[in-house]
Amino acid sequence: MVDTVSEEQRSYNMSRIRSKDTKPEILIRSMLHGLGYRFTVNGPKNRQLPGKPDIVLPKYGTVIFVHGCFWHGHEGCKDFRLPKTRTDWWRAKIDRNRSRDARNLAAVRALGWRALVIWSCEFNTAAKLEALRAGLSARIGLPMETAEERAVAEPAAPYGKRRAKNR
Ligand SMILES: [Zn+2]
Repeated sequence: MVDTVSEEQRSYNMSRIRSKDTKPEILIRSMLHGLGYRFTVNGPKNRQLPGKPDIVLPKYGTVIFVHGCFWHGHEGCKDFRLPKTRTDWWRAKIDRNRSRDARNLAAVRALGWRALVIWSCEFNTAAKLEALRAGLSARIGLPMETAEERAVAEPAAPYGKRRAKNR
């Protein structure tokens, strides 16, 4: 059994190395910068909110999870195919990831955040990237309206108003 576990771990590690799941995170950051959004990737909210969202936009009350289609089991996506070997093990693993993702989304929304998932396949081609960029503001939504909400989410952001006019 020890061999089995280590083999699974090895195969997991190898898949991680092969996966390009950090690249979409970098692309989305530069896209958000280009659109004039302010966000955090390693702030307290990124660390503390359920599921540790990749991107937090405090002014908008929006969090973004960037999910690799394989690891997070993107339903119906051609980038999500279970490996032909150890299929049951992979299926169980991906199912656990999916359940955890669903719980985290529900939990972060229950805390009053808008939460959206951007899948790695949305970065696959130049055309898809452009579609993602074009639709991103609509997915992020409008800034939060009330001063109360803003005070909680954004205690020190003197640039907030100027940025808002760009929307
Ligand atoms: Zn996908």
